[in-house]
This record gives sequence, C-alpha cells and structure tokens, in this order.
Amino acid sequence: MKAIVETGVKQLEIQELPMPVIEKDEVLMKVRANGLCTNDLRDYLGDMKYTYPRIGGHEFSGEVVEIGSEVNPEHFDVGDHVVKYIIPACGECHYCKTGRENLCIEVSKSTTFQNPDGISGFLGMSQYITVKSRDLYKYPKEVPFTHSAFTEPLACVVNSVERAQLMFGQDVVIIGGGVMGLFHVVLAKLSGTRVILSEPNAERRKLAEELGADLTFDPTKVDAVAFVKEQTEGRGAEVVFNTTSAPQIAKQAMDFTATGGQTFMFSSLHPNDPVPTDMGVVHSYEKLITGTVSPKIPTFYRSVQLIAKGIVDVTPLLAKTFDYTDAVDAFEYALRPDTLKTIITFD
Ligand SMILES: [Zn+2]
Ligand SMILES: [Zn+2]
Repeated sequence: MKAIVETGVKQLEIQELPMPVIEKDEVLMKVRANGLCTNDLRDYLGDMKYTYPRIGGHEFSGEVVEIGSEVNPEHFDVGDHVVKYIIPACGECHYCKTGRENLCIEVSKSTTFQNPDGISGFLGMSQYITVKSRDLYKYPKEVPFTHSAFTEPLACVVNSVERAQLMFGQDVVIIGGGVMGLFHVVLAKLSGTRVILSEPNAERRKLAEELGADLTFDPTKVDAVAFVKEQTEGRGAEVVFNTTSAPQIAKQAMDFTATGGQTFMFSSLHPNDPVPTDMGVVHSYEKLITGTVSPKIPTFYRSVQLIAKGIVDVTPLLAKTFDYTDAVDAFEYALRPDTLKTIITFD
C-alpha cells in the first residue's frame, strides 16, 4: 500500500509500505479522505518533537474491507463506512476510568508520537490502517467521505462547547474564524446564544455571518475589548472561546470575559510563552479560565451524529481536495493563511 511519509522537515514521500495485518479485534480500514489539521502543518514545518519517519493524519474516514474473527459483524462489517476515534487511550488509567480519556496518561508515551524503531504518527495518511473495533464509528453510506472526515475536528469543538454548558440568550465571543472558530460559531448558535466573532479576515467574517454569527468585527481596526463591552452592556461576554494560538490574544480573551464568565483556551499557544494573568480579578470577579483538548468518546460520538444527521453542514468549511499523489501541493495549499479545510483523498 502507499502512504504519505514525512522523512524530515518539509520532506514528504509517497512510499510503498507493507499491507498492515489485523488482529482478531481489529478491522482493516481503507482510508478514503483525510483532513489536514494545523498540527499536520506544524509537523510538516518541523515545529514538533516527534520522531521521523512519521505518517500524520488524524482526521480520516473510510470503509471497512476486512474484519477480525472477534469483531461482531452486527456492529461492524465489510463495506461499512467508518471513522476512528484517534486518541490512543489506555482505558485503564485514572483519567480513562473517570471519563476523561482525552487526558489519558499513556497517550503521550504512545508510538503515535515517539517511535524510534518504526513510524510515528496517527497513520491516517495511508491507504490502509488497522483499527480496534471499539474505536470505530459508523456513518450512513450517503454521507461523503470528505464530510465524515470532519468528525474529529468537529468533535474537538463539541468537547469545547459542551464544557461551557451554554445557556439560551448568553453572549459568546469566539476569537478566530478558521475551521475551528467557525465550528464554534455553528455550535454556539445551535445552543441558542448570541455569537460575536473576532476575526481580521473579511471573507471569514462574511462566512461566519452566513453560518449564523450575530456580530463580527475586525480586532485590528477597532478597540476590540471596548467593542465587546459596548455590545454587552459593559459586561463582556459570559463565555469566550479562543481558537487562536498567539499568547497576546489569550490575554485579550480574558479581557473579553464578563464578571462571573468563562474563558476557554481551545488552541495550543505558539510560541508557548507565559501569559500575564490578574489573579486578583480571577478571584474578585469569579472568572473561570480553562482549556479544552481533543474529543472524549461521547463527544466524538456526538460529532458523528451532528454530521450524519445533517445537523451540522460541513460543506462551507471544505476548501479543496487533493489526490494523495499531490500531497506536497495539498500541504502547501493548506499553509496559506486564508484557506479553510484541505482534504487529501485516497482512491
Ligand atoms: Zn486535528
Ligand atoms: Zn488512560
């Protein structure tokens, strides 16, 4: 089978690799579509600490082509269209046992990140991959693979928005109008809130409005904190989701947040510099600052429901698809700051 193998910084090769062999509790999945995540782009640029060779790709969908002897064919069978929960959670540690498998202590030690004797990575940019049946989620066949490939990024946002426990009529500020920011717009609107988006790019602001944002503004053109306060009777937003990676914007996210409100750090920070925080304000005004990372099993499942049932339409976020043989073009296209989701397809 073929796979897109990263052999160094900005070095991608289409390599012929041995066909993976399934265990009894696994299926062989033929990958059909794989979305490029900002993390894949950071790997490509060498802004990571994982081992080469590496096969990225954790936003993938495909079909089952073989099942192991212990897989229940009433749950998963040959021909099913599926996606994989990609966190290699152990199921045994404190976090897995308390329903927080996204924080599993074993994940960072897995070969997904460090594999000095082999290939590291989530492996979604391969033609075939073995998957434990417990990690599979089924899609109706009429949903295109390029849509089901959005399950993982949407699931991260389901995890984020559910943690905020939004209430009808609340004011929500979302910082950043990329794919993740726009998914926050969609889910916050579905939750009955008033959504204000901070985003410098006019086209993205327009798209956010089409997706339901009530108000958008360019933070480089106005006094952003003053603008948000003006719109919210001087309070600020009850919930702020920061989907951008610059440390100074993390500070702004806290300034957008009302007394008694919640600030969510959805994105990792690059560079990961400390952000000055006024703990006196956190105390006196009962401000909650927290993070969200990756999906949990239930939030991943709910993301499948949202896409499969057409509750969330992912098509406005799909920028372009590329055949896997054009992987370099796909990565270079995805690196452009103005693009939304780039998907690599396998035939
Ligand atoms: Zn991702
Ligand atoms: Zn665990």
